[in-house]
Amino acid sequence: MATVRVVHRQPALWRQCHRTAAIGICHLHTSSSSHAPSKEHYKVLVLGGGSGGITMSARMKRMLGAENVAIVEPSEMHYYQPIWTLVGAGAKGVASSGRPTASVVPSGVKWVRSRVQEINPDTNTVRTGNGMEISYQYLIVALGLQLHYEKIKGLPEIEDWVKFKIGSNYSVQTVEKTWSALQNFKEGNAVFSFPNTPVKCAGAPQKIMYLTDAYLRKTGKRAKANVVYNTSLPVLFGVKKYADALWEIVKSRDIQVNLRQNLIEVRADKQEAVFENLDNPGETKVLEYEMLHVTPPMGPNPVVKGSLLADEAGWLDVNKETLQHNKYPNVFGIGDCTNLPTSKTAAAVAAQSSILDRTISKVLKNEKPDRKYDGYTSCPLVTNYNTVILAEFDYSGQPLETFPIDQSKERWTMYHMKADVMPHLYWHGLLKGFWGGPGPYRKIMHLGMK
Ligand SMILES: Cc1cc2nc3c(=O)[nH]c(=O)nc-3n(C[C@H](O)[C@H](O)[C@H](O)COP(=O)(O)OP(=O)(O)OC[C@H]3O[C@@H](n4cnc5c(N)ncnc54)[C@H](O)[C@@H]3O)c2cc1C
Repeated sequence: MATVRVVHRQPALWRQCHRTAAIGICHLHTSSSSHAPSKEHYKVLVLGGGSGGITMSARMKRMLGAENVAIVEPSEMHYYQPIWTLVGAGAKGVASSGRPTASVVPSGVKWVRSRVQEINPDTNTVRTGNGMEISYQYLIVALGLQLHYEKIKGLPEIEDWVKFKIGSNYSVQTVEKTWSALQNFKEGNAVFSFPNTPVKCAGAPQKIMYLTDAYLRKTGKRAKANVVYNTSLPVLFGVKKYADALWEIVKSRDIQVNLRQNLIEVRADKQEAVFENLDNPGETKVLEYEMLHVTPPMGPNPVVKGSLLADEAGWLDVNKETLQHNKYPNVFGIGDCTNLPTSKTAAAVAAQSSILDRTISKVLKNEKPDRKYDGYTSCPLVTNYNTVILAEFDYSGQPLETFPIDQSKERWTMYHMKADVMPHLYWHGLLKGFWGGPGPYRKIMHLGMK
């Protein structure tokens, strides 16, 4: 079998990105028109039509009228990414995760079907790949983050992943490959990685590990399998209450967890994964695998990183309470592209959207923003095909639970929430600008005490 070199393979991977252009796996440059740029102006311009961008355009339409709002998004499809955890495990079909972008952009809001190439906050303008220059009075940046599969040496091109028994729940192009790898598993190591970078939904890399364990038990293959979770982190999960519960589960299911191990290379032809010991850089360990689930390194959106809006690390530099930009008061941010020091999730986007709505309404009236985001985020930790631990916490890493029960316990009711209720809440509540997180319900459930 030929050795696969990333340098030769990358152009093909990039071609694939061009074909699908769905979730920003690659930084795609669309060449500008040779004609003079066409110019447009909007009171509110939203960049990115993912969870945060669509939500905020719906809210801005309600606040200011559709004719005053535009959104820039190149993808024809919008994806509900949280359901990919279940798609990778064969519990949902990938089709259930996507809807045409045209169906989620609020009616009357102008959809610029193009890629943002440059943001210039000094002139209040944005340049897009189709040669437009759009000026704005207020800007909302919701460009998400960037996946960097190309940073893992030797990772073959996506078309070959089934052959090489590799999958990844982190993109629409690769999520079904996880399910193939699971079904094709015979015996050996099922290996799961967690990169040495910030990630979105920090629980997702291990959710698929629990589902794999459950699937192998269901199909009678578990006795011939080692389930191995190699994480760059020094902990299994960032919040102690949930980490304690997860350690009990990995022990009881005989899952091997290795901390501070970072996937740096895949030797696909030999089915080997190479991990570096982050506590002793340069020391590597080679693991043979029968199935490999890759969580790619992630980083800031390149357009944000290359702009004056970025902090030193390249993330959008916003106030952690108001979501207003720290230097440009007419710029705001939401979601994965920001430097908000909380776990990057759609649940966080929901809580942020109601705060940002309020912040902008105050700024429009020349008043001071008065509501503060507490860092609320949530991660439904799927631990089996019918159980979930519903982690909810704030900036301080303290649990901020909605229900008056111990949420660190595995529960089927929470699985039902994750698999059936949350998708509805997403499509019909969040994206329409009506769902701002469970804060008000938490108050009621805890009789006003939380
Ligand atoms: C496997 C997986 C499991 C997850 N599980 C959960 C979960 O259980 N619970 C949960 O709450 N969250 C979960 N998440 C995380 C959640 O999906 C994200 O945090 C959320 O979608 C972030 O929203 P966003 O708007 O910031 O970014 P996105 O939704 O990623 O949107 C960014 C948008 O920007 C667009 N874009 C990028 N670059 C440009 C450009 N140059 N010009 C114009 N547009 C551009 C992209 O096309 C995209 O539409 C999961 C994610 C994954 C991948």
